[in-house]
Amino acid sequence: MNKTKSRKILLLPGDGIGPEVVREVKKVIEWFNKNKSLDFSLEEELIGGASIDANKIPITDEVFYKSLESDAVILGACGGPKWDNLEFSKKPERALLKLRKELKLFANLRPAICFKQLVDSSTLKPEVVSGLDIMIVRELTGGIYFGEPRGIEPIENNERKGINTHSYTTGEIQRIARVAFDLAKKRKNKVTSCEKSNVMEAGVLWREEVQALKDKEYQKIELHHMLADNCAMQLLRNPKQFDVILADNLFGDMLSDEAAMLTGSLGLLPSASLGSKDKNGKIRSLYEPIHGSAPDIAGKNIANPIATILSLSMALRYSLNLDKEASLLDTAVQKVLDDGLRTKDIMSNGKKEVSTTDMGDAIISKLK
Ligand code: NAD
Repeated sequence: MNKTKSRKILLLPGDGIGPEVVREVKKVIEWFNKNKSLDFSLEEELIGGASIDANKIPITDEVFYKSLESDAVILGACGGPKWDNLEFSKKPERALLKLRKELKLFANLRPAICFKQLVDSSTLKPEVVSGLDIMIVRELTGGIYFGEPRGIEPIENNERKGINTHSYTTGEIQRIARVAFDLAKKRKNKVTSCEKSNVMEAGVLWREEVQALKDKEYQKIELHHMLADNCAMQLLRNPKQFDVILADNLFGDMLSDEAAMLTGSLGLLPSASLGSKDKNGKIRSLYEPIHGSAPDIAGKNIANPIATILSLSMALRYSLNLDKEASLLDTAVQKVLDDGLRTKDIMSNGKKEVSTTDMGDAIISKLK
């Protein structure tokens, strides 16, 4: 088999359980290099609190430029009690915000998958969530979190006013809608676009632009418009009606957290943040589990590495064009769960509890 062109993967383990779960990802990448004749070049750098300890800043310029040059960046987690008292601008989490902002990662992809083997971990009835597979596409760099004017200002009668501005341009809406439509083409061809067009002008524009893009370029996609509050309700009532959910920054933030909790465990869910294609066709990207650094269990070799391993699977699919390898990895995770292996966070009666390292090894053994 021909070796593929060497592609750079940058690993940023970070803090807490970050190094433990990223270590398992590294083993998987090394397995692919050895057994599938892939030729990933791997680098590992400090970020977050670990970088503060070594370099006094959460991310150095050198690491930042390396992430710009990499084909995919995989992050563990940043932060922890050791750095909690630092002022906001110096905290470990600033590294993450800098990466998202400077890499212009405007699309956040968060799958909410309910593994049939773990259906009892959800707070919803098994028949409502079993087999659930939703992809939430959230706009990440616009809307009310960034809009101007913003601030808190004094007004008459000794009162104060808090101001944030919600605005979206046609270009911003089309850019994120395109990501959702393209993803739907690889899934069930269905997009549900959420806004509040009943009370917000920006919502009216959102709805019009998403519909216009579909009519012009994506005629085969089944597009539904849904008010965001109704979507929040439908996610609990009948979540399996959704395939791809498209939402702005604010509504996407809430809907993706709600959808994640349908699946029952933080340790299982990956995420991807994507930017635009550069002139060489390369998409800037950052892949990370949705959980944090879990300081309460750090250093004990009990963290669940699946969310981070599935983040690698997203990187294979969306940045490295290796759909087959991504599916192989997804299937390996399923098989290990079928075998009844569980880390502590997803342990239940009759199953076998394994460590972080054992879970990584078991997934690799199923790749074979
Ligand atoms: P958390 O996600 O780290 O932990 C919440 C709970 O889930 C904990 O009980 C933890 O033990 C458990 N948990 C999380 N991931 C797990 C895994 N893979 N396996 C097993 N159990 C797991 O959230 P938190 O406690 O609110 O935050 C801890 C630190 O992480 C804070 O400093 C926070 O700022 C940071 N954080 C970082 C990111 C990131 O880097 N993207 C995201 C969220 C939080």
